[in-house]
Amino acid sequence: MSTGRLHNFGAGPSMIPLDVLKKIKNGFMDFGGVSVLEVYHRSKGFISMMNETCNLVRKVLNVPKDFEVMIIQGGASLQFAMIPLNFLSSHADYAVTGYWAKDAYLEAKAVGRCNLAFTSEKIDFSKIPGADEIKVSKRSNYLHVTSNNTAYGTQLDVFPKFKNVPLVSDMTSDLFTRQIDWNAMSLVYASTQKNAGTAGATVIIVKKDFLKRANDKLPAILSLKEHAKAGSILSTPPVFTIYVTNLVLKWILEHGGIDAMETNNLVKASMLYDTIERSSMYFCPAEEGSRSSISVVFDLPNKQLEKKFISEAAKIGIVGIAGHRIRGGIRVTLGNAISIAEVNLLCKFMKDFENRN
Ligand SMILES: *Cc1c(COP(=O)(O)O)cnc(C)c1O
Repeated sequence: MSTGRLHNFGAGPSMIPLDVLKKIKNGFMDFGGVSVLEVYHRSKGFISMMNETCNLVRKVLNVPKDFEVMIIQGGASLQFAMIPLNFLSSHADYAVTGYWAKDAYLEAKAVGRCNLAFTSEKIDFSKIPGADEIKVSKRSNYLHVTSNNTAYGTQLDVFPKFKNVPLVSDMTSDLFTRQIDWNAMSLVYASTQKNAGTAGATVIIVKKDFLKRANDKLPAILSLKEHAKAGSILSTPPVFTIYVTNLVLKWILEHGGIDAMETNNLVKASMLYDTIERSSMYFCPAEEGSRSSISVVFDLPNKQLEKKFISEAAKIGIVGIAGHRIRGGIRVTLGNAISIAEVNLLCKFMKDFENRN
């Protein structure tokens, strides 16, 4: 199975550990006498897997008891609409720090009044704001932030705390890659295809007090309260997706848990940033204090070299590094499943490429 397996540095769907893929192969054929694709979603077997998966989320991220954990259908983009539908009654604040952050803001504007609490669009999203640069409004329903900006390679290091303004964070590209300060947080969400398996679901972790404030008049399928009440089985859940997330979370625990993930990701990122800093060919557009440990974005002097870089990397099995379609450049995604050896290979290739060109 491993023969011919590429080093996939793609932003998402991203790499899944090989051990997990092997386990999926078994469950695919036999999940208690049926394939996992065939398992009845209200059977004891599935309900206990759903509960176990939510508990694994708690265990991996040290989620406090006063938070609810849900795994519901659809990706982060659905939450761009569901969050305001559930929580925006008067007005909300949005920090626009990148492509997805802007998308979340525009979707919420279709629901109700939103204030732009911060934007770095004019400087090509090259920085993350400090808490003092975010302008929250009075009696805001919530402040929405995006913890990691995949296209621009920036990441929120410290979550801002504002008195009386709940913090909602899209953590799609860095949930399960680092510790979370739960004192700062009211709601966290992330689609599963980045660091928690395959596409089809979103992990939502919400403070119970905050969930109480959610709109009661929504259609059930859009209501976070209803999903919580139904134990994430309101309608047929994406059974296979949840199965994969279950196995990925167990893999994280077996490999040192969230502390080890965080440490490894910092090591991998600094290997790359060091390589960039030492070179005169590669340039990192993200400001120093804002750089991401998951999405490392850099540019080459011109489009021609960029193309050559991507095609030569592919020859040694390094794929998924072309930048986001809106900005180009190179983007390397360092999910949990990427090994230090793979990052080493990439850094070595970068040095060789620079020497040759
Ligand atoms: C990838 C990504 C998304 C999009 O997720 P979908 O599941 O495709 O809706 C949203 N937000 C962030 C931060 C992302 O990295």
